Amino acid sequence: DAAINRIAAGEVVERPASAVKELIENALDAGARRIDVTVADGGRRMIRVADDGSGIAAEDLPLALSRHATSKIDGSDLLNIHTFGFRGEALASLAAVGRLSVTSRPEGCDAARIEAQGGAPGPVRPVAGRPGTVVELRDLFYATPARLKFLRTERGEMQAVTDVVRRLAMAEPYARFSLSDATDAPREVFAVAAETGDPRDALTARLAAILGPDFAANAIAVDAEREGLHLTGLAALPTWSRGSAVHQYLFVNGRPVRDKLLTGALRAGYMDVLSRDRHPAAVLFVDCEPAMVDVNVHPAKSEVRFRDPATARGLVVSGLRRALAGAGH
Ligand code: ADP
Ligand code: MG
Repeated sequence: DAAINRIAAGEVVERPASAVKELIENALDAGARRIDVTVADGGRRMIRVADDGSGIAAEDLPLALSRHATSKIDGSDLLNIHTFGFRGEALASLAAVGRLSVTSRPEGCDAARIEAQGGAPGPVRPVAGRPGTVVELRDLFYATPARLKFLRTERGEMQAVTDVVRRLAMAEPYARFSLSDATDAPREVFAVAAETGDPRDALTARLAAILGPDFAANAIAVDAEREGLHLTGLAALPTWSRGSAVHQYLFVNGRPVRDKLLTGALRAGYMDVLSRDRHPAAVLFVDCEPAMVDVNVHPAKSEVRFRDPATARGLVVSGLRRALAGAGH
């Protein structure tokens, strides 16, 4: 059973960045407004995510680590998911692939900690701790050296972790994020303050903080709607295009996705204003009722399946064309 757990866990946790993604999503599901990520050795040696969210009651800690235990849905409504998590797999998977410790303190309670190794959780112990949750994963893949071999260099893994934090920070401008590298002397790699104001102002400020003021100054607002699908975001003017697709950030219902359909639609939206060797830069959010899109494709992949793909594509293409035309392009 431990072996089966490890195999299943490998599907969810391919590398440090996938662990970081799961942990930040849990923090956001818990309503966190402050999320601090620390990694050592590109995440192999240590990954820590601290949040100020609602926390986990001491008596629920063992459950939080067990497979298929989620507090987020009751299983009857897989078509109506409003949280990032719903499978109850992430913490169980992390416990199977590394040494996991979860310390949590819900409002008005004392802090408690549970530790697990090789998938087996130990007892819950009282500790001192701040409100919120700290999840720490040490020695990722220590029991599965074959998986360790598939990891990139420390720098490569750190880049993937940074990319995950940046993408999630784009989707949650009202939360504060930081990323620190504790490999040697602790060093802050990335930090953004919580934004305020209406959603568009907050997003613009957040994107200026992450992509630079230059992006925000050269981008136009996109805002379109079609048959229950809403498109918002910022699209760079053709003059701010790039030689590669690095600055394409796509989100569906707040989740970062890498989706062929949306990427293709983004290209098509700029087709008339960009030469073939240039790539548009844009941060686009598609939002809809959860039932209109299937996010249940694969736990570790960021693919989605729209119930009506043609409408999704049409929305993005026409929304971009209209915004570009409005700006004189
Ligand atoms: P899922 O997110 O799919 O529910 P996880 O394995 O990621 O599954 O988490 C299991 C459960 O542990 C969650 O349903 C939630 O109740 C609790 N949990 C995990 N992380 C946090 C956190 N940072 N803050 C509060 N609760 C958490
Ligand atoms: Mg989760």
